[in-house]
Amino acid sequence: MLLSTESKDFYVKDIDEQTGSGLFASREFKQGEEIYPFDYWSQEVMPMHMSNHSCNASGYFNDNGMLEATRDIHLDEEITFNYLKHPLPASPWNFKCTCGSEHCVGWVQMPVQSE
Ligand SMILES: [Zn+2]
Repeated sequence: MLLSTESKDFYVKDIDEQTGSGLFASREFKQGEEIYPFDYWSQEVMPMHMSNHSCNASGYFNDNGMLEATRDIHLDEEITFNYLKHPLPASPWNFKCTCGSEHCVGWVQMPVQSE
């Protein structure tokens, strides 16, 4: 599957049936390097749409509105961000997180239901 934005920086790959596909690095990124802009609206398929959630994400959106590498990202490593830290009003989420990280929230629910 191709992104409508051609990029030499990342590509989309199927992971499994439950997760679907994800965004992967086609090159090395250094920690602090900017990867793609916070843009959910310009085109039908943006890199952001293809990035999976992780509680231990390889990227986060910085003050420039760019996804920045939280650590060095290796070739063919998945590019992720923490959905709970970057809520999108148009995208309610309710799914079990399988990121497997030490601090996994277990269930990603947005907007958060207050009781
Ligand atoms: Zn998790």
